[in-house]
Amino acid sequence: METISVSELARKMNLKASELIGKLMGMGMMVTMNQSIDADTATILASEYDCTVHIVSLYDETVIESESDGSVELLHRPPVVTIMGHVDHGKTKTLDAIRSANVAAGEFGGITQHIGAYTVETGKGKVTFLDTPGHEAFTMMRARGAEITDIVVLVVAADDGVMPQTIEAINHAKDAKVPIIVAVNKIDKPEANPDKVMTQLSERGLIPEAWGGDTIFVPISALQKVGLDTLLDAILLQAEVLELTANYECRAEGKVIESRIDHGRGIVATIIVERGTLRTGDSYVAGVFSGRVRAIFNDRGEKLEEATPSMPVEILGLEGMPNAGDPFQVTETERIARQISSKRQELKRFENSRNIKKVTLDNLYDTI
Ligand code: GDP
Ligand code: MG
Repeated sequence: METISVSELARKMNLKASELIGKLMGMGMMVTMNQSIDADTATILASEYDCTVHIVSLYDETVIESESDGSVELLHRPPVVTIMGHVDHGKTKTLDAIRSANVAAGEFGGITQHIGAYTVETGKGKVTFLDTPGHEAFTMMRARGAEITDIVVLVVAADDGVMPQTIEAINHAKDAKVPIIVAVNKIDKPEANPDKVMTQLSERGLIPEAWGGDTIFVPISALQKVGLDTLLDAILLQAEVLELTANYECRAEGKVIESRIDHGRGIVATIIVERGTLRTGDSYVAGVFSGRVRAIFNDRGEKLEEATPSMPVEILGLEGMPNAGDPFQVTETERIARQISSKRQELKRFENSRNIKKVTLDNLYDTI
């Protein structure tokens, strides 16, 4: 775990060490200038002074180093895709159509598992879809630094054309520097006008390949299940260009997609593994909570022994409900997981109390 001495942090922040020591005392921590504080504490401390702390790695620097120096072989990983678009343009229908078309009959066993993400296996590779369409989910995850989306599929209804949320989606994707593939949906409708969609989007900088640009447009009908294979091909093509890889050997790290209470199973969290391999029995921290992976299930409810990068899985064995977007990290030992968890809970309490204080202060100024 990353640490920094108080004097070093003070130097980097252009402050006197005594200033930081006083601040830490206010947080209930007695430290001297040569003592070290952990990354979480440093982050909160720095935010008090409008400074940002860049944490190189929370746990295992050596893995990161070996990753970048190439001594660990980085292997291909499937793309993680978010579907965005205006309301009623067919996001849910598209997600459902892709899923049902790529899952063998009977595999669901009559129950549609909903875990917030799913993977489809195509002849040419796997694709993971985040099953939480909508800009809110995307922006919320981004706001928490959880940029797990590799590709955005922008669904635009061919009868309706570009609408306000279409533009919003484009802006979000551009801000996040995530490439966009356009799915021109509802082409089965008599009033469908795909050309108009292409013209409208060209005006927004998304120029179709057919017109000399570099945006892939795929005409589809989610209702009639037309064009979905072409869409998957386009996603895999885009993924190839992005050269998505990950270290499969290190301790698993990922992001929480959602968590919920399941009757009979306790707290269940859906996570997407970003790097490393997650195994049953691993100790971990998810947000402020720690635990030990009691069981791993895939999006079809099948029990797994391990999960690799870009795989969405459900895990059992949590002591609390982490938030969507929270980091998930496997730790070397259960003790370390518990230590980090209690430290984070302590810091969270401090943050909360600080927020309350701030509000009071603002109110105070208001009345003056
Ligand atoms: P969302 O709000 O973007 O998730 O949109 P939905 O997937 O809920 O779809 C909105 C409506 O459009 C529903 O009534 C769908 O049945 C319909 N719809 C979706 N895709 C198609 C399509 O390809 N063709 C036609 N005709 N209707 C569609
Ligand atoms: Mg929907």
